[in-house]
Order: sequence, then C-alpha cells, then structure tokens
Amino acid sequence: MKLKIYDFKGDQNYNNINFEVEKIDDLDLKSPLKINFSLKRAFVEEVGDVFEINIRYSCQIKVECVRCLKVIIQNLSGDFESKFIDSKNYKRLTKQLDSEIEIEPDLFEEAHDGEIDVVELVREQILLEVNLYPVCSVSCEDDSEIEKYKDNGIDQRWAKLLEL
Ligand SMILES: [Zn+2]
Repeated sequence: MKLKIYDFKGDQNYNNINFEVEKIDDLDLKSPLKINFSLKRAFVEEVGDVFEINIRYSCQIKVECVRCLKVIIQNLSGDFESKFIDSKNYKRLTKQLDSEIEIEPDLFEEAHDGEIDVVELVREQILLEVNLYPVCSVSCEDDSEIEKYKDNGIDQRWAKLLEL
C-alpha cells in the first residue's frame, strides 16, 4: 500500500487502518502479514510538513533451522514510527546540514515521488527483527556443539564447559 502525501488534505487522517498482505519479497509468509497504521501531518518549523506514520505489524514466517534444515515458524510482531517529508524539503534540509539548524536530518525520511510505501517499511523492519540463525530446538544446537568437539579431540572436561 502506497500513501500519496500530496493527496493528504487538511485534517484528513489515516486513522487506525488495517490491511493484510499475502506475499512479501525475501520472506516466506506462513499466514498473511497483518498491518495497522495511522498517519498524521504536522507542521514543523524549519522543516515544513512532516508526515508521521505509526505502524504495528504481526506475521508468521517460515524459516529453516540452520542445523538440520527443518522448517520452523517464527512469530514476529512489533511497532515503530517513521517521519517523512517531501523531496523538496528533504533536499533543502540536507543542504542545511552545516548551518545552525538543530534538526537532525536523520530523523526524517524522504517520501520519494511523494509516496510512503507502508509495506516496504514493514518489510525492512521485519528483516531487522528476523532471527538470522534460527534453530528448531535447543537440543538441535546442543548436538552440533558436541559433534564439533568430538572431532577436534578436545578434552572432555572442556567440552562440558563449552556446553554451558
Ligand atoms: Zn534443527
């Protein structure tokens, strides 16, 4: 879902909007990704119109155990907010980096072509949250550790310590 900031008129708010996504790049969804968001506009001195979006999401994704490759399900959910400004204001703000302005440009993201891509925001957030080294169970991990030290001929007393 892409929100067009130039369509945003007066006090019109996107308030508590819910929708679902069936497919998303780079992730294998077990069930649809649920998204809830609100968007509001505020005028900030020296910056201009700021579009603040608050997003909540939850989903289940399918990943493979890094040890045995068994498919496991990860539950992911969270919330975050982002602040967008249009390209014109963004460029102006970036140029003023060296000036006395005390506003950090990092606080704001650029709404490219006047658009806020809600699904892409959530996708990036999920990729930060997702466990890159999932294991299907604690024992799956333990077995691999024991396996490693067996082959190395490490003193069994050390192996016990390393298990901890
Ligand atoms: Zn496993």
